[in-house]
Amino acid sequence: MGATGVNNQKIDKEQESLNLLSSTQVVIHEALNKLGFSDEMYELLKEPLRMLTVRMPVKMDDGSVKIFTGYRAQHNDAVGPTKGGVRFHPEVNEHEVKALAMWMSLKCGIVDLPYGGGKGGIICDPRTMSMGELERLSRAYVRAISQIVGPTKDIPAPDVYTNSQIMAWMLDEYSMLREYDSPGFITGKPLVLGGSQGREKATAQGVTICIREAAKKKGINVEGASVVVQGFGNAGSFLAKFMHDAGAKVVGISDAYGALYDPEGLDIDYLLDRRDSFGTVTTLFDNTITNQELLEKECDILVPAAITNQITIDNAHNIKASIVVEAANGPTTLEATKILTERGVLLVPDVLASSGGVTVSYFEWVQNNQGYYWTEEEVNEKLELVLVQAFNNVYQISQTRNIDMRLAAYMAGARKMAEAVKFRGWL
Ligand code: NAD
Repeated sequence: MGATGVNNQKIDKEQESLNLLSSTQVVIHEALNKLGFSDEMYELLKEPLRMLTVRMPVKMDDGSVKIFTGYRAQHNDAVGPTKGGVRFHPEVNEHEVKALAMWMSLKCGIVDLPYGGGKGGIICDPRTMSMGELERLSRAYVRAISQIVGPTKDIPAPDVYTNSQIMAWMLDEYSMLREYDSPGFITGKPLVLGGSQGREKATAQGVTICIREAAKKKGINVEGASVVVQGFGNAGSFLAKFMHDAGAKVVGISDAYGALYDPEGLDIDYLLDRRDSFGTVTTLFDNTITNQELLEKECDILVPAAITNQITIDNAHNIKASIVVEAANGPTTLEATKILTERGVLLVPDVLASSGGVTVSYFEWVQNNQGYYWTEEEVNEKLELVLVQAFNNVYQISQTRNIDMRLAAYMAGARKMAEAVKFRGWL
């Protein structure tokens, strides 16, 4: 791709991120209105309280020095320290980081954690960097943001293209700066450095709990139900496995290159075995269909677990599923949410459905603070309690107010933050 192509792609992505931010603001505004908070509250919560941009010189393996740009957004810390992942991606931009920080605040509110939302990002392409370059970049980022982060200020975690090794380097750098070990500075760590059992599968576990609760409301038995999962990465592949193990028929899966569909059910264990570390598997098959075709296939439960803007005004009328559970961030537009809800589809929004990850990150931080570690069973039991309660709270708000589940989730998520702002006397 030439320089113009790369620039156009960057502008498209920035526009998409701006749209994401403004649609988040629209729903937050509506939620605060319905909760009876003033417009000043919306003015405060429509953007992060803090947004730090950092420039980091990093020595590359060929001897050159490259300057990287990174961000850390802290949406609101009225409830407690902020919390949220750091993504490494060539198309990260500040609008995206801001929107993601706001979603983290909402998620933390929905599952009732003592946190506000934060998010970080570095413009880089980790797929083209060596381990040494990634380590130097991760450490440089911690040094650059060290003044505003910490176990009681803002706690990072993994996100797109960052993993437990990167968290380990970041933890080590932070501990060296502070001159004492600070495992509670970051979550998603390797187990030997104070990570939590169950963290890796937590998002998919949470989505599975939401699917089960939604199915109860719709009178659908998960055992025997047909499920389509878009995306076969960390979230999508574990979810397909959990659904398969629960007796559901996973009839469709996909990745960035195409989709597989079989009304008789796919061999999920075989596909898991053959997928690569980027979540690609469909390239091994000839009989693929497109992602867009997959979304419109017959199924009871549809789980978008890949990227944003997949269910839009163009295909919302053709979705056959009676339950849509958003494992991905932002896969359904606001117009499509309205269409699906009017058609009687039960849509479980991203801020609720994918909150299992931050919930187990919170458990990791609690274990670090107390220095006492739980078994995977204990973690899963606690996650179950939190998510069942969160799902039913949001569902009840949507039923009693006669509103869609997204608005209900935003109301549940914004309430605690807004009340904390009032009690602190900020407004
Ligand atoms: P991942 O990078 O592990 O996997 C992404 C998957 O989506 C891959 O299979 C990839 O091939 C596929 N994909 C990429 N582009 C696609 C396209 N254009 N069409 C169809 N498929 C495409 O990512 P992940 O961690 O599984 O995250 C997936 C989504 O879930 C993201 O929106 C992420 O923000 C959200 N999420 C993940 C977590 C988590 O803990 N992993 C937590 C909260 C939210």
